[in-house]
Amino acid sequence: MRPLYGGIGTIFMLHRVRPLSAEPRLPDNARLEVSPAFLASLVDFVVDTGFDVVSLDEAHARLVGKSDGRRFVCFTFDDGYADNYEYAYPVFRERGLPFAVYVASGYMSRSSILWHCMLEKLLLRHDEIRYELDGVSRVERAVTMEEKEALYDRLCNIVMGLPSARWPALFDSLFDDTGIRPEQFHAEVMDWDQVTALARDPLVTIGAHTVNHYNLALLEEAQAHWEIAESKRILEQRTGRPVRHFAYPFGLAAHAGEREFRLVESCGFDTATTTREGNLFPAHRGHLHCLPRIEVTGRHQDVAFVDMRLSGVVALWRYGPQRVVTA
Ligand SMILES: [Zn+2]
Repeated sequence: MRPLYGGIGTIFMLHRVRPLSAEPRLPDNARLEVSPAFLASLVDFVVDTGFDVVSLDEAHARLVGKSDGRRFVCFTFDDGYADNYEYAYPVFRERGLPFAVYVASGYMSRSSILWHCMLEKLLLRHDEIRYELDGVSRVERAVTMEEKEALYDRLCNIVMGLPSARWPALFDSLFDDTGIRPEQFHAEVMDWDQVTALARDPLVTIGAHTVNHYNLALLEEAQAHWEIAESKRILEQRTGRPVRHFAYPFGLAAHAGEREFRLVESCGFDTATTTREGNLFPAHRGHLHCLPRIEVTGRHQDVAFVDMRLSGVVALWRYGPQRVVTA
């Protein structure tokens, strides 16, 4: 596998880093978290295995320039969770290694809501979920963890498939009178002081991840363009540094395609990453705005499992033998 699909480098995708909580969690959200100890062991593993841990700028330089044959990895964290600052940053700082955080600026401005966290809390607290969709009032019961997980998945798919202009009405109907409010989750993501503190450290790259974390593919072109360009503008203004790298919210084919790749390129980003699984190959120099990543998931906090994914086997299984996936 490895010689054929291991590629010249890998961009890891992570979300949250924090000690395992005793609170009950829905597996889909717990999947987004790894412990600080596991992150440290993974970083040490890739260094010991002989990978160069590089910044996104350096990954870009190696993709467009001549690679010296040394395999590299980038660590990237999506959304801008406060635990990245508290728990991930020290792991990299202690080792003098770079990493990147793709920040959705609306979370820092407290104007975007962490609906997936609210939804998890709602399902864990209530067995009966009421909401209104397409003018129809719905009531769903989910009592066991399996039922809650299935309903969570279904509701997430409804949200992601719904134009964002219709999100407020759906969220109002879901959360009204439940005691679950957006401001209860503000501290889950960094504030601007933390983002600018990270940006001042040369080890850290702040990338853009839109303003509101909407599904870009469902937006009118002008609004999609605004989400991309405005997130770059506001991050550059806040941090005083150029923002050259972007990650698509959600990042699968239904969320980011040719139009989004073109828009991101037109906004002046050097690279953009999806959530399509895969390693980087020399051919990606022609597709710098749809770079695949390998997800490090909380479901398997095991270095051997990540090593298996680094071989490219999951990408092969998911997309077949094509190395560059644009669709
Ligand atoms: Zn995201």
